[in-house]
Amino acid sequence: MGCGEQSAAAERLWLRRAVVLTMDPARPAASAIGIAGGRILAVGDDEEVAVAIGPGAAVVDCAGGSVVPGFIDPHVHLLALARSLSSIDLSPPAVDSIAGLVAALRAGRRAAAGTAWLRGHGYDDALLAERRHPTRWDLDAVAVDRPIRIRHRTRHASVLNGAAIDWIRARAPDLLLASGVERRARDQAPTGVFYELEREITALVPKPSAAEALAALGEASDLLLGAGVTAIDDVSASTGAAEANLLRAAVGTGRVRQRLRLFWGAEGSDPPAAVDVVGIKLMLDEQAEPGSAFIPRLEAAHRRGFQIAVHAVEGSAIAIAVAAFEHALGRWPRPHRHRIEHGALCPPPLMDRLARLGLTVVTQPAFIAHAGERYADLVAPSERRWLYPLRTFARRGVSVAASSDAPVGPVAPLAGVAAAMHRRTRGGRPLNPTEALPFEAALGLYTRAAARACASEETHGAIMRGRVADLVVLDRDLTRVPAVEIDAARIRLVVVGGHPVKPGALGDRGPVIHRAVA
Ligand SMILES: [Zn+2]
Repeated sequence: MGCGEQSAAAERLWLRRAVVLTMDPARPAASAIGIAGGRILAVGDDEEVAVAIGPGAAVVDCAGGSVVPGFIDPHVHLLALARSLSSIDLSPPAVDSIAGLVAALRAGRRAAAGTAWLRGHGYDDALLAERRHPTRWDLDAVAVDRPIRIRHRTRHASVLNGAAIDWIRARAPDLLLASGVERRARDQAPTGVFYELEREITALVPKPSAAEALAALGEASDLLLGAGVTAIDDVSASTGAAEANLLRAAVGTGRVRQRLRLFWGAEGSDPPAAVDVVGIKLMLDEQAEPGSAFIPRLEAAHRRGFQIAVHAVEGSAIAIAVAAFEHALGRWPRPHRHRIEHGALCPPPLMDRLARLGLTVVTQPAFIAHAGERYADLVAPSERRWLYPLRTFARRGVSVAASSDAPVGPVAPLAGVAAAMHRRTRGGRPLNPTEALPFEAALGLYTRAAARACASEETHGAIMRGRVADLVVLDRDLTRVPAVEIDAARIRLVVVGGHPVKPGALGDRGPVIHRAVA
């Protein structure tokens, strides 16, 4: 196929013999899609679409596999995901003990020789056999001559080895006096475990060059594309001007191929007009006090017309956010797409207020499988009922979208779709099975509802005439496989803005694309 033919193929596509799940209530199912000029031209049966698209279009034979709207992930940390790709994976179940963690770091050390920082991520103290965080002494068994930093799965704690603690002592000695620095009882020596000091530690670790950072962002984008993700919102508390400009450059140079919207995260500053952000990310944790800087920041962002995404995991934080939104929207009403990020534990009285305000909860169903054991242990039995209450949210009229929170959670939307349906932890324990969603509703979390969360429901999130042609072609009919097998489906082709991306490189075999004879 010559270059000219390839671009012509990208121009007009006829997907046929598919089980199309359109997410359009007016026409939920179809067998074919016609694409022209980056938009969906026709949705219907094979003959209808053949007539609409005309002769000469490139044909994709979907062989009975599902075609769904391109997945939209409204809560990703793209720079962190990119960094995680050059960091050693310490996540369970592969790493389930401190000895295993040390072995994984040693293997990573051999693979990346030198004296640069060695980085690891994803360990979970609750899922290690020892049920504790590793310490600097554990990590010193890996290397004493190069700094090591490993990050907890939640990204709320890091462990540093002796060389890394020395590095910090030489540059920011006061940081070692912070209250988040864990100390050994006997002599008050830092154990190497640092809680809630992620930003401070990151600021001291040498940064990759711009070229390295762009290349890593390209890898992160490819990883997401391979999982069918065609649009993302980056919602990172660390995003300031430098981060926003780097992410924009990654899109501008074609490294990041998804549609990308950015939220500003840097606390204590507002985005300059020159920086292209759509919204503001605000953090609220369990210790948040009503009356802190949070409320004036939320009101200012609302009045400036920004979309607001508030990190609020459980009831008390959600309640503070809801009260602040009630006040802001009551005093300065306007159309909005404001959001609660996570909302993992949400009792019903709050749901009614969320629904009334038209707030969207952007939650992470994959955590039911990924971290469900931990939640079930940590959350009081009386509250456990309201962990990821996806069905009750829907019944009470709360708009809910799903996201990966990558790199905290797995990037694959199908992992979240499956978990929203089966509601089992990785250990097989059911977590509020009455909150299980049927397939179409679970798929909607990453398509139609996610488009609304990203203020793009007019152009994305459904397969309808006139919409942007973002699609995922799967190797099987997802409506006919049990929930536990949903995430075993292979992605055969991703179409972004009408362009087939990496056919054949995704999954095992790409679909056949050939030129229609008639
Ligand atoms: Zn997040």
